[in-house]
Amino acid sequence: MAATNGSIFAAMLEEFDVAARILNLEPGIWQILTHPKRQIIVSCPVQMDNGEIEVFTGYRVQYNITLGPAKGGIRYHPGVTLDEVTALAAWMTWKCAVAHIPFGGGKGGIVCDPTKMSQRELEALTRRYVAEIVDAIGPEKDVPAPDVNTNEQIMAWIMDTYSMHVGHTTTSVVTGKPVELGGSLGRREATGRGVMIAAREAAKHFGIALKDTRIAVQGFGNVGGVSAHLLAQQGARIVAVTDWKGGVYNEKGFDVPALMEYTRQHKTVAGFAGGQPLPAGDFWGLEVDVLIPAALENQITIENAPAIKARIVIEGANGPTTPEANDQLHNRGIFVVPDILANSSGVTTSYFEWVQDRYGYFWTEQEVNQRLEAKMCEAFDAVLKTSLKYKVDMRTAAYIVAISRVATVTRMRGMYA
Ligand code: GLU
Repeated sequence: MAATNGSIFAAMLEEFDVAARILNLEPGIWQILTHPKRQIIVSCPVQMDNGEIEVFTGYRVQYNITLGPAKGGIRYHPGVTLDEVTALAAWMTWKCAVAHIPFGGGKGGIVCDPTKMSQRELEALTRRYVAEIVDAIGPEKDVPAPDVNTNEQIMAWIMDTYSMHVGHTTTSVVTGKPVELGGSLGRREATGRGVMIAAREAAKHFGIALKDTRIAVQGFGNVGGVSAHLLAQQGARIVAVTDWKGGVYNEKGFDVPALMEYTRQHKTVAGFAGGQPLPAGDFWGLEVDVLIPAALENQITIENAPAIKARIVIEGANGPTTPEANDQLHNRGIFVVPDILANSSGVTTSYFEWVQDRYGYFWTEQEVNQRLEAKMCEAFDAVLKTSLKYKVDMRTAAYIVAISRVATVTRMRGMYA
């Protein structure tokens, strides 16, 4: 694998190419699937609380809409770039295809630091961003959702702004909404639930029960926190957790609800009394069975991959492993369940939310979770079987499944010109 010089889209393309070569993908389809369909850049002026005007840059990328409306979250982060959002939109395309749901892939982002903004400023920014892209989104066109630093409240503002523009309440324009206004039960926990299922299935593949595993989690937000909680409920020992500010370690396994409560108050796991401080450099080399990167991209690199002792890596985040690090892990027999499979339950439950909104008929949490379990196991089986059939790692197998599905429909639909 060549170094991708920090370009996340280049890393996505490397992963894509490995699978496309194995599939002998024809050059025309190869070209289509490696180009974003549409990239939108908008400037969003906002009057800040101090009276001054600041202009924020926002992106929305619709990478591919062959299987259905573009689908994917919106992230608020100072490091957002068009390169990153395009890669994330591509990953959504493959993720929806692996999950076998009728959506294409999209992603949005705004370059901002939400930790330094008031609720009023965040609301103004969100509404202006939606107003700028309002013609491009819609239940049949492009359906946003939460991602890094965005939440149910922000989805409610998106739904409201869009509805005001079109003149009627349109709940299915966005997913991850509060349950009171068309959100789905189980959506908030869905990504973490899917990560738990992926860890369970991967452990089962090695003949290990979850209750006999020791797990380390990077990131303790919606994905890392809920995954840790559900895994601990299954009897797994969560021995290490790190986040942007620091890390904690507990040989016996954390009391995860207590750690969640601490994090709610302190915005970090650092300083939690139910464990000892974990120096940042020690995290990747810990003696654990399962490692769950659930923060941002490019975390497992060629520098720290050799230290990893876990047998299984479950990618809760999008793109946490660089292509070179992925090869390093694979060559050492470490089983990596890739992002486009491992964290796909978030968007699968977004699909359930979209279906419920369009029906105007809502399911119980048990129904949502049963359907999610079935979809996640179906996706995991399809990828595992493909990996055994082609003798490739799980990431390449997931791409083979995804590319095959999107390419088949692309060929059937033909070219419009
Ligand atoms: N942001 C999540 C992801 O990366 C969820 C996307 C969605 O539900 O549309 O998969």
